[in-house]
Amino acid sequence: MTTATTPAHAADKLDFIRAEMDQLRENNLLINIRTMGSPADAYMVVDGNRVLNFCTNNYLGLANHPQMKAAAQAAVDRWGVGPAAVRSIAGTQALHTELEGRLAAFKGVEAALFVQSGFVANQAAIPPLVGREDVIFSDRLNHASIIDGARLSGAKIIVYEHCDPEDAEAKIKEHLPQYRRGLLVTDGVFSMDGDVAPLDKLTEVANRYGVLTMVDDAHGEGVLGRGGRGVVDHFGLQGVFDVEIGTLSKAFGVVGGVIAGKQTIVDYVRQKARPFLFSSATTPADTAACLAAVDLLEASEERVRRLWDNTAYFKGEMKKLGFDTGRSETPIVPIMLGDAGLAKQFSRELFEAGVFAMSIGFPTVPRGMARIRVMNTAAHSRDDLDQGLAAFAKVGKALGVIS
Ligand SMILES: *Cc1c(COP(=O)(O)O)cnc(C)c1O
Repeated sequence: MTTATTPAHAADKLDFIRAEMDQLRENNLLINIRTMGSPADAYMVVDGNRVLNFCTNNYLGLANHPQMKAAAQAAVDRWGVGPAAVRSIAGTQALHTELEGRLAAFKGVEAALFVQSGFVANQAAIPPLVGREDVIFSDRLNHASIIDGARLSGAKIIVYEHCDPEDAEAKIKEHLPQYRRGLLVTDGVFSMDGDVAPLDKLTEVANRYGVLTMVDDAHGEGVLGRGGRGVVDHFGLQGVFDVEIGTLSKAFGVVGGVIAGKQTIVDYVRQKARPFLFSSATTPADTAACLAAVDLLEASEERVRRLWDNTAYFKGEMKKLGFDTGRSETPIVPIMLGDAGLAKQFSRELFEAGVFAMSIGFPTVPRGMARIRVMNTAAHSRDDLDQGLAAFAKVGKALGVIS
């Protein structure tokens, strides 16, 4: 028997990782992952400190809502903790089909398919609709899960300029004739800037050329539209848009993804989507909590109103202080700082002042466009916002961002 040789070389195999990590560190791009010691709420225990929270996507304050928790607890007693199967074999519990019906009705569409997450929803929905002979028209700032779903499909990806229907039309005109069919896909609300895609104009262009339309409404659900019915409702395009992708991990406060729209499309995606066919179903606790979220949204618009009141107040006061809030039209408020190092330092000093607001840099946003991102929610009181504003004013002055 021979002994393995060259152990000295074995270590070298990982040198590329060390070099890449050093590079990230030098460029201030290493992500510092903090640990939460309490539920998602207006205040949270972060790395052992109780701080005002501006980081979670808990738009309506549902993540720690008593009715949601009670629904999850009751579902565990009735259904156990896991379905122990993929949806297509034995994992579809009555809770899943009930939720799909409720989501379709809430959003005013023919049908809905519930999957494990919003990220997965894009992987599930795009590949069945387009393949190697097809073309995808994709907004320059689309979310990573759309980009990955598009790549997975094997279709040619043509990027159009951000929120630019004229450029989308020019790209459709130029490229569509070389392909079998086209799909236009966009975020509804862009998660790093808080701006809204011009869905009315994009739909009009896409429909004129017979191009399928898909919108990812992860940050619009529970936020935009009547009672939080989403970006398609906001534009009054129910029944016009082909596919809506959504998540139940943001305003809905739980976890899960949804593919909603025309019955023909949803039926087809259910047969073809690989994450649906090959990855297990969500747990009873999650699914029941999602149902409770739909109940709460349908029962009252009060939380959605409070979310927008808080947003208007916070954004207005930040502008008065002299901060640049970029293109924000929604509760997502970027505080544009430019330099990644400055954004990190700003976030650190806010934290020391009792405010948790993360800095975001490349590759999540383009180089030189680093920022602090504030997520407004219905869970914050006016006093909370005033405390946050005071911390921003103090740190902004100390670092010379405002005068
Ligand atoms: C957050 C987000 C997702 C991912 O949703 P999860 O449910 O967290 O997987 C997908 N698309 C967009 C646009 C998002 O902002």
